[in-house]
Amino acid sequence: MKEDTFFKLGKKIDGSRIKSDEMMAGHTTFRVGGPVSCFIEVCDTPELLYCLKVLRENDERFFLLGNGSNLLVHDEGYEGCILKLSGSFSDITIKPAEDPGYYVVSAGAAASLINVSIKSANEALTGLEFASGIPGTVGGAMVMNAGAYGGEMKDVVKTVTLLDINTGDICTRTAEEMGFGYRDSIIRHNDLIVLRADFLLKKGDRDSIWEKIEELKEKRVSKQPLEYPSAGSTFKRPEGYFAGKLIEDSGLKGYSVGGACVSEKHCGFVINKGGATAADIITLIGDVQRIVKEKQGVMLEPEVIIL
Ligand SMILES: Cc1cc2nc3c(=O)[nH]c(=O)nc-3n(C[C@H](O)[C@H](O)[C@H](O)COP(=O)(O)OP(=O)(O)OC[C@H]3O[C@@H](n4cnc5c(N)ncnc54)[C@H](O)[C@@H]3O)c2cc1C
Repeated sequence: MKEDTFFKLGKKIDGSRIKSDEMMAGHTTFRVGGPVSCFIEVCDTPELLYCLKVLRENDERFFLLGNGSNLLVHDEGYEGCILKLSGSFSDITIKPAEDPGYYVVSAGAAASLINVSIKSANEALTGLEFASGIPGTVGGAMVMNAGAYGGEMKDVVKTVTLLDINTGDICTRTAEEMGFGYRDSIIRHNDLIVLRADFLLKKGDRDSIWEKIEELKEKRVSKQPLEYPSAGSTFKRPEGYFAGKLIEDSGLKGYSVGGACVSEKHCGFVINKGGATAADIITLIGDVQRIVKEKQGVMLEPEVIIL
């Protein structure tokens, strides 16, 4: 990254929030990933607009980071700028909606989805129980239309506030306009940044909501290898199949490359058993795709985003 870019960014962003050669292993749930030229914590929308302007004018690449829970960064790192939203982007507020019995939970893009679920549950608001174990940010959840146990963002989102990277325009889109599909939304196909999402939730029974959250937590703990770093399900669910079953039926349970391994607890998860590199994980993903295709005739598509 050019010296001039650092200089200009430093004019408006506090030096403690701009880092060079930051290791991405510390910012991804896989715990792998090399150094990035520039890592910035962006606290509010004016700062974000300023960073984008400087990066555009200096012809620098950049990438928006959520909680890095669906992300695999190469060992060589990233030649460009990582923007991580923080500060006011983590705010969560709750207000009554127009419809009696409904509330709008408004959460900044950097708010943790788990915190939004817990805060809603504590206010006896039902709808986000399914998301209480998804370790992403609200921004990442909008991008991926994150979902679990029969629920997905599409069911609970009222509106999403987006920033157009090219024009700097800010607009609000309804859930219908977000193009939510299976691990997909319009954000994945356009130059957009999520600033905020409003969820429409119904007043319910606090105890039943917490019971549901506990029940789903037990399911996760018993079925998923949460004791190891991972990015959750590595592959998308192919239509008519389950990725984990296809992998297991292909004899790949426990298959490993270096420190990367197909979890024995849940074959749909590639885990970092210790000391894995991004190269190990990428090789393992390729091997799994090839072997499953040979043995089951199905091509698995990674859900994890590779940077
Ligand atoms: C143990 C574990 C369990 C998981 N379980 C589930 C599950 O049940 N269901 C599920 O759907 N997922 C699950 N995941 C995957 C992951 O948590 C989700 O995909 C989550 O939505 C990713 O959010 P993130 O903030 O971590 O995004 P990141 O991984 O940081 O980024 C993902 C993508 O979103 C983009 N992005 C992030 N923030 C913004 C923003 N503000 N504006 C524009 N783009 C942005 C990034 O550029 C990137 O392209 C799991 C992961 C783990 C580690």
